[in-house]
This record gives sequence, C-alpha cells and structure tokens, in this order.
Amino acid sequence: MDILAINAGSSSLKFSAFTSAAEDARATGLIDWGGAQGRATCRVSVDGDERVSDIEAEDHLAATRVAVETLSERGALSLTDEIAVGHRVVHGGTALRDSTLIDEQATRRIAELSSVAPLHNPPALRAIEAARVLLPGAPHVAVFDTAFYRDLPRHRYIYPLPYAWYEEWGVRRFGFHGISHEYCAARAAEMLGRDPAGLNVITCHLGAGCSATATAGGVAAATSMGFTPLAGPMMGTRSGTVDPGILLHVQRVHGLDVEDLDRALNRESGLLAVSGVSSDYRAVEAAGDAGDDRARLALDMYAEGVRAAIGGLATTLPRLDALAFTAGIGENSAALRASVCDGLGTLGVSIDAARNRETQPDADIAATDSYARVLIIRAREDLMIARETRNVLARVGP
Ligand code: ADP
Repeated sequence: MDILAINAGSSSLKFSAFTSAAEDARATGLIDWGGAQGRATCRVSVDGDERVSDIEAEDHLAATRVAVETLSERGALSLTDEIAVGHRVVHGGTALRDSTLIDEQATRRIAELSSVAPLHNPPALRAIEAARVLLPGAPHVAVFDTAFYRDLPRHRYIYPLPYAWYEEWGVRRFGFHGISHEYCAARAAEMLGRDPAGLNVITCHLGAGCSATATAGGVAAATSMGFTPLAGPMMGTRSGTVDPGILLHVQRVHGLDVEDLDRALNRESGLLAVSGVSSDYRAVEAAGDAGDDRARLALDMYAEGVRAAIGGLATTLPRLDALAFTAGIGENSAALRASVCDGLGTLGVSIDAARNRETQPDADIAATDSYARVLIIRAREDLMIARETRNVLARVGP
C-alpha cells in the first residue's frame, strides 16, 4: 500500500509519498509560508525532479489540497489506488499514547489538546480535515511527537510547582520531537550493529527547534523539552529554558503582558536575538566566520546549551554508548559538532576531526579511541510516519 506522510509544522507543510514498502520516498514536498500571509513557496520533487512554484494558500487546509493535487498531477500519488495517510501530530497528551487510526474521537482529543499546543495541533487538524475530504476512502493515522515519552518516570515529568497545576491543569513534561528521536535511536543501534535493548544513546535534534533525548534500551529515559516545545537549549527564535524570575520581572517592572512574552520567547529570542543577524544557523555561522562578535557569541551559547543538555541527560543513563546528531544543524554543521564534542571528554566522547568535516550522514565520526560512538544521522520523520502508519494498519486489520 502506498503511504502519504504529512507533517504540518507551525509555518510549513512537509509531505512525502512512499510506494509500497520502499524506505525512500518517491516524492517529497515542502510548502513554506516563510512569514508571509496567504502566499507560500511550494517545492515538490518527484523522482529527483524538483519544481518550485509560488502558490496561494490561506492555511494548512489549502496547502494540503495543493500537496495532494500536485502529487496526483505529477503521477506520484493515485487518488484511486489503495493508499493510507499518516499525519504527524505534535501533541497526543496523556490520552493518545500510541499512533492511532483517526476517527471522530481521535480528532476531538487532538482538538482538545490545542490549548496546550496552540501553534502545532491546529495546523495538523486542518491538514487532517483536508486529507480526509480529498482521500475519503483512505485510512488516516495520527503519529504523535509526544508518544515516545509515554514511559518517562514520574520524577522526570512532574514539575516542582504547585501540585494542583499538575492534577487539575495537566501541567507536566510531555517532551517533543519524539518521532525523530525514536527513529534516530533505532538507527544508531542499526548502524552500530547493536541490539537496541542494550544501547544507551543521546540523540540531538538540532533544527529550527532543538531538543535532546536520552534513550535506554529503546525507551526514552529523559528529554530536554517540557510541557511545551519552548524548553531546553536555545533555538532559532525560541529562548529555551531561562530563569522564570525574568518573566516575572519584565511583567512587573516593564509592563509586558502575556502576548508580549509569548512573542518574545517563541519568536524573538534564541539565535536571532543574540546574534542580531538571523534565526538561521547557517547565516549566523557565516557571520561568525566573518568576525561578527554577536554571531560568535550566539554560536558559543548555542553549543554550550546543547553540551549542557547532553551532560544533564547523561546522568540518567548507566553509561553513554552513542551520541547522535540529526536535523538541519546537527547533520550539516561540522563546526557545531566539534564545538559540542570538544567539551564532552568526561563522557568518553571524542571525534575524528577529519571524519567530522568530511563525512555525510549517516556516518560514525567518533575517533577510534572514543568510548562513545558519535553519529550523524539524517532526520527521517517521514519514514517513521510511514512505518507507524503501516504498523497501525497491520494492527487494526483491513
Ligand atoms: P526544521 O526544524 O524546520 O525541519 P531543519 O531540520 O531543516 O529545520 O533545520 C533548519 C536549520 O538547519 C536552520 O537553522 C539552518 O540554517 C540549518 N542548516 C541547514 N543547512 C545547514 C548547513 N549546511 N550548515 C549549517 N546549518 C545548516
């Protein structure tokens, strides 16, 4: 059965079409609003032939329609053949702990969780709505970013806040990017020829959002993101974890309100704020290389944040067998990887400088005498969504 994997992000829609049991997508696409309203750039690559167009799309519902129609016009998706659709949904909360067939009850639960994931669940719901109209005969499956963290021990998901906030308002750590971390931890075991049951690995997903997760025996043991995807090391435009007292201070003394704080923490912080150059790591790296002082500061802080997250997570594992880097920055910036790993000697991490500079993912860049292996792994959320969709269908039957 062919699978269409849809990944609705806060300001983009990614999609991939897989034929039968293939591990590589036949077609991939990205619709990106890039901050603009109503108009977006649409890139669709079928059998390696990429075409870029400017499209009109009000939201994720319209974008999903464009995606399905474009794939169908270009012969990468047949609307009449057997097909299933897998949707990435950021927040499954505590109720949706596993990938699930989408029915009215599941959509209602996903909608209820929009209050805790206002940037992420609504776009996924719009994409689901559009895909169910366009492909009414297809089974639709939701794959959750939070599901990998279903077995976090209680002392790692309760916050030291008034207990009623947890009991009555559901304030607890959820963790995100789980689809990517789960894939990465499994891929690390595969690359090292190790049984996942015996592997202790820390995976770093460093893209527009950044998070790190410790996985022991295939189960997530701890993670850097929290109740929201704002926690952890600093990101492109997100602050990551900061002293909460600052948030009280700027409200009390400088009159900021909740919307001001939301904008500042989610959109005006991180690499963008510190460098004053861009939220895009590549641009900050180029400015830093050209001698820009604030860009260098941002790069140093970014590496430090990732290093600190790894250090903290390492305390939750019996030993560190492997460290893996994935997503845009993790896969592509050799300088970032070197900067992070240079401070991790105490964890038995040592990289081979030439291998780090020259190899493309998926690869092992550890020095031969490094205790922990160090891997770069291409992010494959699309493949995980396709696999999970097949798993759910195999479970529920035709
Ligand atoms: P998303 O979370 O939106 O899927 P990506 O995984 O595509 O994000 O990662 C985007 C980040 O990766 C951006 O900060 C971008 O600058 C960075 N990046 C992409 N290519 C490179 C590169 N060659 N060198 C350094 N950073 C890169």
